[in-house]
Amino acid sequence: MTTFSRHRVSGKAGKLRVLVHPSRNGVSRLKSHDGVERRPAIGHLGVLDMQFFDRLLLENRAWAAGMKMADPGIFERLHEGQAPAALWIGCCDSRVPAEQICNAKPGELFIHRNIANLVHEDDANVSSVLEFAINALKVDHIIVCGHRGCGGIQAAVSGGDALQALPYVDQHLGQVKRLVAERGEELERFSQLSEKVDHVVELNVIAQIERLSTMSLVTDSWQTRQAPSLHGWVYDLASGHLEEVYRREPDWAEGASTEPTWQRAAAG
Ligand SMILES: [Zn+2]
Repeated sequence: MTTFSRHRVSGKAGKLRVLVHPSRNGVSRLKSHDGVERRPAIGHLGVLDMQFFDRLLLENRAWAAGMKMADPGIFERLHEGQAPAALWIGCCDSRVPAEQICNAKPGELFIHRNIANLVHEDDANVSSVLEFAINALKVDHIIVCGHRGCGGIQAAVSGGDALQALPYVDQHLGQVKRLVAERGEELERFSQLSEKVDHVVELNVIAQIERLSTMSLVTDSWQTRQAPSLHGWVYDLASGHLEEVYRREPDWAEGASTEPTWQRAAAG
């Protein structure tokens, strides 16, 4: 069965009529008025001479049509409300899209992202996200996900003038710079900058889990409903794989064991 939906997209490139055919694997194909069918390549901005933002709007229609074809009731259900199982705190990096790398569906992850996936007690943004996720959505899990080769972490490790022109980023990364200073001796055994960065990426994820485990938003929830579990993950850009580096369960405060991955991560 071939089902095309008709969409009109206009922009600087002029009005463009295309037929969108969501394929079974979710990759759309675009058919222009000249009848030539083209499959857009990821990251290729020149598809049909479209402006980048036009392409995004068009892909949205293809995505929505594909989702509906695979699951006709999906948008009606999502319109009713959300009940995600987990809060994801990840880096803003464009190469680490939370849902895609986990094959998660809309509605499964409540997401907060900032540079270097940090939790600040005095950051109203992350605090409000935590409050809503824990007390309103009652998520069972919080995932803090860092990634190897993180530019934010690298800037903090490099020090010097790296952040001079970016004062807000510099301020945001203060806790990472302190972590680097505290673990300076430990980092000296790595000869390559990339190795230091990837080690601090792991230490930083662990530090965020530790910070979360002391916040009253989390500990109050542990007392009342024994949730959420705290998961520290690292994503490897080179392989596309996620790895757990640390985990803390709600009963940790009552003497539960520390995960062995902590020792592995700390030992580098
Ligand atoms: Zn990053």
